[in-house]
Amino acid sequence: MTTALPAAPPTPPADRGPALVARGITRTYGTGAGAVTALDAVDLEIARGAFTAIMGPSGSGKSTLLHVLAGLDVVDQGSIRLDGTEITGLADDDLTVLRRERIGFVFQSFNLLPMLSAEQNIVLPLELAGARVDRAWLDTLTAAFGIADRLTHLPSQLSGGQVQRVAIARALVTSPAVVFADEPTGNLDSLTTEEVLDFLRLSVDEFGQTVVMVTHEREAAERADRIITLADGRIAADEDLRDLRGRR
Ligand code: ADP
Ligand code: MG
Repeated sequence: MTTALPAAPPTPPADRGPALVARGITRTYGTGAGAVTALDAVDLEIARGAFTAIMGPSGSGKSTLLHVLAGLDVVDQGSIRLDGTEITGLADDDLTVLRRERIGFVFQSFNLLPMLSAEQNIVLPLELAGARVDRAWLDTLTAAFGIADRLTHLPSQLSGGQVQRVAIARALVTSPAVVFADEPTGNLDSLTTEEVLDFLRLSVDEFGQTVVMVTHEREAAERADRIITLADGRIAADEDLRDLRGRR
Protein backbone atom coordinates (compact mmCIF):
# COMPACT_ATOMS: atom_id res chain seq x y z
CA MET A 1 0.00 0.00 0.00
CA THR A 2 1.42 3.42 -0.91
CA THR A 3 0.97 6.56 1.09
CA ALA A 4 1.88 9.79 -0.64
CA LEU A 5 2.67 11.55 2.60
CA PRO A 6 4.53 10.59 5.74
CA ALA A 7 2.31 8.44 7.89
CA ALA A 8 2.22 10.75 10.86
CA PRO A 9 -0.68 12.31 12.71
CA PRO A 10 -0.91 16.11 12.34
CA THR A 11 0.03 16.79 15.94
CA PRO A 12 2.82 14.51 17.11
CA PRO A 13 2.35 13.51 20.74
CA ALA A 14 4.31 16.00 22.81
CA ASP A 15 6.21 14.97 25.88
CA ARG A 16 3.46 15.72 28.35
CA GLY A 17 3.82 12.71 30.61
CA PRO A 18 1.59 9.62 30.49
CA ALA A 19 -1.61 9.70 28.45
CA LEU A 20 -3.58 8.79 31.57
CA VAL A 21 -2.87 8.92 35.27
CA ALA A 22 -5.50 7.67 37.72
CA ARG A 23 -4.98 7.88 41.46
CA GLY A 24 -7.19 6.23 44.04
CA ILE A 25 -10.25 6.10 41.83
CA THR A 26 -13.31 4.63 43.47
CA ARG A 27 -16.75 4.15 41.95
CA THR A 28 -19.63 2.80 43.99
CA TYR A 29 -23.08 2.04 42.65
CA GLY A 30 -26.07 2.21 45.00
CA THR A 31 -26.09 2.82 48.73
CA GLY A 32 -26.42 0.89 51.97
CA ALA A 33 -26.51 -2.89 51.99
CA GLY A 34 -26.96 -3.05 48.20
CA ALA A 35 -23.92 -0.90 47.41
CA VAL A 36 -21.44 -2.32 44.89
CA THR A 37 -17.86 -1.05 44.75
CA ALA A 38 -17.15 -1.34 41.04
CA LEU A 39 -13.72 0.32 41.37
CA ASP A 40 -11.83 0.20 44.64
CA ALA A 41 -9.05 2.81 44.96
CA VAL A 42 -7.45 1.97 41.62
CA ASP A 43 -4.06 3.51 40.73
CA LEU A 44 -3.06 3.38 37.08
CA GLU A 45 -0.77 5.02 34.55
CA ILE A 46 -1.10 4.51 30.81
CA ALA A 47 1.93 5.43 28.70
CA ARG A 48 1.54 7.26 25.40
CA GLY A 49 1.81 5.19 22.26
CA ALA A 50 1.08 1.90 24.00
CA PHE A 51 -1.65 -0.66 23.40
CA THR A 52 -3.13 -1.60 26.76
CA ALA A 53 -5.70 -4.33 27.33
CA ILE A 54 -7.97 -4.44 30.35
CA MET A 55 -9.12 -7.94 31.22
CA GLY A 56 -11.06 -9.57 34.00
CA PRO A 57 -14.15 -11.64 34.64
CA SER A 58 -17.64 -10.29 34.15
CA GLY A 59 -18.45 -7.77 36.87
CA SER A 60 -14.80 -7.06 37.72
CA GLY A 61 -15.14 -3.37 36.80
CA LYS A 62 -13.72 -3.25 33.25
CA SER A 63 -16.48 -1.17 31.70
CA THR A 64 -16.68 1.11 34.73
CA LEU A 65 -12.94 1.74 34.50
CA LEU A 66 -13.13 2.50 30.79
CA HIS A 67 -16.11 4.81 31.28
CA VAL A 68 -14.54 6.85 34.08
CA LEU A 69 -11.20 7.12 32.27
CA ALA A 70 -13.04 8.38 29.18
CA GLY A 71 -15.11 10.89 31.13
CA LEU A 72 -18.36 9.05 30.37
CA ASP A 73 -18.98 8.33 34.06
CA VAL A 74 -17.75 10.02 37.23
CA VAL A 75 -15.74 8.67 40.15
CA ASP A 76 -16.71 9.07 43.80
CA GLN A 77 -13.11 9.60 44.86
CA GLY A 78 -9.72 9.98 43.29
CA SER A 79 -8.10 11.84 40.46
CA ILE A 80 -7.86 11.20 36.71
CA ARG A 81 -5.52 13.17 34.47
CA LEU A 82 -6.11 12.64 30.78
CA ASP A 83 -3.46 14.14 28.50
CA GLY A 84 -2.43 16.38 31.40
CA THR A 85 -5.95 17.60 32.21
CA GLU A 86 -7.66 16.74 35.49
CA ILE A 87 -11.07 15.48 34.38
CA THR A 88 -12.69 14.79 37.74
CA GLY A 89 -14.80 17.78 38.62
CA LEU A 90 -15.00 19.08 35.05
CA ALA A 91 -18.36 20.58 34.09
CA ASP A 92 -20.43 18.54 31.61
CA ASP A 93 -19.78 20.99 28.76
CA ASP A 94 -16.05 20.86 29.30
CA LEU A 95 -16.15 17.07 29.46
CA THR A 96 -18.05 16.96 26.18
CA VAL A 97 -15.42 19.13 24.50
CA LEU A 98 -12.62 17.04 26.00
CA ARG A 99 -14.21 13.82 24.75
CA ARG A 100 -14.64 15.27 21.26
CA GLU A 101 -11.14 16.62 20.97
CA ARG A 102 -8.96 14.23 22.91
CA ILE A 103 -10.72 10.87 23.02
CA GLY A 104 -11.60 8.40 20.32
CA PHE A 105 -14.10 5.59 20.78
CA VAL A 106 -14.49 2.24 19.06
CA PHE A 107 -17.76 0.66 20.07
CA GLN A 108 -18.63 -3.02 19.95
CA SER A 109 -21.35 -2.36 17.38
CA PHE A 110 -19.03 -0.09 15.32
CA ASN A 111 -22.18 2.00 14.82
CA LEU A 112 -21.63 4.00 11.63
CA LEU A 113 -24.39 6.38 10.60
CA PRO A 114 -26.19 4.58 7.74
CA MET A 115 -27.05 7.70 5.74
CA LEU A 116 -23.49 9.02 5.68
CA SER A 117 -20.71 7.84 3.37
CA ALA A 118 -17.60 6.17 4.75
CA GLU A 119 -15.69 9.45 4.50
CA GLN A 120 -18.49 11.43 6.15
CA ASN A 121 -18.52 8.90 8.99
CA ILE A 122 -14.76 9.17 9.43
CA VAL A 123 -14.69 12.97 9.56
CA LEU A 124 -17.79 13.26 11.76
CA PRO A 125 -15.77 13.80 14.98
CA LEU A 126 -14.01 16.73 13.28
CA GLU A 127 -17.33 18.20 12.13
CA LEU A 128 -18.72 17.90 15.66
CA ALA A 129 -15.63 19.63 17.04
CA GLY A 130 -15.83 22.32 14.36
CA ALA A 131 -12.31 21.38 13.28
CA ARG A 132 -10.81 21.45 9.81
CA VAL A 133 -10.30 18.19 7.93
CA ASP A 134 -6.59 17.59 7.41
CA ARG A 135 -6.72 16.00 3.97
CA ALA A 136 -3.17 14.61 4.15
CA TRP A 137 -3.88 12.90 7.46
CA LEU A 138 -7.20 11.57 6.18
CA ASP A 139 -5.47 10.18 3.08
CA THR A 140 -2.74 8.58 5.19
CA LEU A 141 -5.30 6.97 7.49
CA THR A 142 -7.59 5.66 4.76
CA ALA A 143 -4.64 4.30 2.75
CA ALA A 144 -3.23 2.54 5.81
CA PHE A 145 -6.64 1.03 6.51
CA GLY A 146 -7.19 -0.03 2.89
CA ILE A 147 -10.43 1.94 2.50
CA ALA A 148 -9.26 4.81 0.28
CA ASP A 149 -11.35 3.47 -2.62
CA ARG A 150 -14.46 3.03 -0.48
CA LEU A 151 -14.88 6.56 0.81
CA THR A 152 -18.02 7.42 -1.15
CA HIS A 153 -19.75 4.15 -0.22
CA LEU A 154 -22.53 3.96 2.32
CA PRO A 155 -22.03 1.56 5.24
CA SER A 156 -24.57 -0.81 3.65
CA GLN A 157 -22.25 -1.05 0.63
CA LEU A 158 -19.23 -2.05 2.72
CA SER A 159 -18.12 -5.45 3.96
CA GLY A 160 -18.13 -6.11 7.69
CA GLY A 161 -14.37 -5.74 7.84
CA GLN A 162 -14.51 -2.43 5.97
CA VAL A 163 -17.16 -1.09 8.36
CA GLN A 164 -14.86 -1.86 11.28
CA ARG A 165 -11.90 -0.20 9.59
CA VAL A 166 -14.00 2.92 8.94
CA ALA A 167 -15.01 2.91 12.61
CA ILE A 168 -11.39 2.65 13.75
CA ALA A 169 -10.30 5.37 11.30
CA ARG A 170 -13.08 7.57 12.72
CA ALA A 171 -11.68 7.04 16.22
CA LEU A 172 -8.23 8.13 15.02
CA VAL A 173 -9.15 11.08 12.82
CA THR A 174 -8.80 13.71 15.56
CA SER A 175 -5.44 12.20 16.65
CA PRO A 176 -6.90 11.83 20.13
CA ALA A 177 -4.78 11.40 23.23
CA VAL A 178 -6.42 8.01 23.84
CA VAL A 179 -8.59 5.66 21.79
CA PHE A 180 -10.89 3.55 23.98
CA ALA A 181 -12.44 0.32 22.75
CA ASP A 182 -14.93 -1.61 24.89
CA GLU A 183 -15.03 -5.28 23.84
CA PRO A 184 -14.49 -4.36 20.16
CA THR A 185 -14.24 -8.01 19.16
CA GLY A 186 -17.07 -9.23 21.35
CA ASN A 187 -19.51 -9.92 18.52
CA LEU A 188 -17.10 -11.01 15.81
CA ASP A 189 -15.97 -14.31 14.32
CA SER A 190 -12.30 -15.21 14.75
CA LEU A 191 -11.22 -13.94 11.33
CA THR A 192 -12.80 -10.51 11.80
CA THR A 193 -11.53 -10.40 15.36
CA GLU A 194 -7.99 -10.80 14.05
CA GLU A 195 -8.56 -8.01 11.56
CA VAL A 196 -9.83 -5.57 14.18
CA LEU A 197 -6.88 -6.38 16.42
CA ASP A 198 -4.51 -5.95 13.46
CA PHE A 199 -5.85 -2.46 12.83
CA LEU A 200 -5.74 -1.43 16.50
CA ARG A 201 -2.16 -2.73 16.54
CA LEU A 202 -1.39 -0.75 13.36
CA SER A 203 -2.81 2.40 14.98
CA VAL A 204 -0.26 2.03 17.75
CA ASP A 205 2.72 0.87 15.69
CA GLU A 206 2.31 3.15 12.66
CA PHE A 207 0.72 6.22 14.18
CA GLY A 208 1.88 6.16 17.79
CA GLN A 209 -1.74 6.10 18.94
CA THR A 210 -2.48 5.28 22.58
CA VAL A 211 -5.13 2.53 22.70
CA VAL A 212 -6.96 1.14 25.73
CA MET A 213 -9.10 -1.91 24.95
CA VAL A 214 -11.40 -3.84 27.25
CA THR A 215 -11.74 -7.52 26.47
CA HIS A 216 -12.50 -10.72 28.31
CA GLU A 217 -10.56 -12.80 25.79
CA ARG A 218 -6.98 -13.61 26.72
CA GLU A 219 -6.01 -14.15 23.08
CA ALA A 220 -7.20 -10.69 22.09
CA ALA A 221 -5.48 -9.13 25.10
CA GLU A 222 -2.22 -10.76 24.10
CA ARG A 223 -2.07 -8.54 21.01
CA ALA A 224 -1.56 -5.59 23.36
CA ASP A 225 1.70 -4.35 24.92
CA ARG A 226 0.34 -4.63 28.42
CA ILE A 227 -2.47 -6.51 30.12
CA ILE A 228 -4.12 -5.13 33.24
CA THR A 229 -6.35 -7.70 34.91
CA LEU A 230 -9.13 -6.54 37.20
CA ALA A 231 -10.78 -8.58 39.93
CA ASP A 232 -13.44 -7.15 42.22
CA GLY A 233 -12.66 -3.58 41.22
CA ARG A 234 -8.92 -3.81 41.88
CA ILE A 235 -5.88 -4.47 39.73
CA ALA A 236 -5.03 -8.13 40.28
CA ALA A 237 -2.25 -8.36 37.68
CA ASP A 238 -0.31 -5.98 35.46
CA GLU A 239 1.77 -7.66 32.73
CA ASP A 240 4.19 -5.97 30.35
CA LEU A 241 4.14 -8.19 27.26
CA ARG A 242 6.93 -6.25 25.55
CA ASP A 243 9.31 -7.56 28.19
CA LEU A 244 8.33 -11.10 27.24
CA ARG A 245 8.54 -10.72 23.46
CA GLY A 246 11.47 -8.32 23.37
CA ARG A 247 10.93 -4.62 22.69
CA ARG A 248 9.41 -3.73 19.38
P1 ADP B 1 -17.38 -5.62 33.72
O1 ADP B 1 -17.38 -4.65 32.59
O2 ADP B 1 -16.04 -6.11 34.10
O3 ADP B 1 -18.32 -6.75 33.48
P2 ADP B 1 -18.75 -3.52 35.19
O4 ADP B 1 -17.82 -2.37 35.27
O5 ADP B 1 -19.83 -3.46 34.19
O6 ADP B 1 -17.90 -4.86 35.03
O7 ADP B 1 -19.43 -3.72 36.61
C1 ADP B 1 -18.68 -3.78 37.82
C2 ADP B 1 -19.65 -3.97 38.98
O8 ADP B 1 -20.47 -2.83 39.11
C3 ADP B 1 -20.59 -5.18 38.81
O9 ADP B 1 -20.83 -5.73 40.08
C4 ADP B 1 -21.83 -4.53 38.26
O10 ADP B 1 -22.97 -5.29 38.61
C5 ADP B 1 -21.85 -3.17 38.94
N1 ADP B 1 -22.49 -2.14 38.13
C6 ADP B 1 -22.05 -1.70 36.92
N2 ADP B 1 -22.85 -0.73 36.45
C7 ADP B 1 -23.83 -0.55 37.38
C8 ADP B 1 -24.96 0.31 37.50
N3 ADP B 1 -25.23 1.23 36.56
N4 ADP B 1 -25.73 0.19 38.60
C9 ADP B 1 -25.43 -0.69 39.58
N5 ADP B 1 -24.39 -1.53 39.53
C10 ADP B 1 -23.58 -1.47 38.45
MG1 MG C 1 -18.29 -4.71 30.65
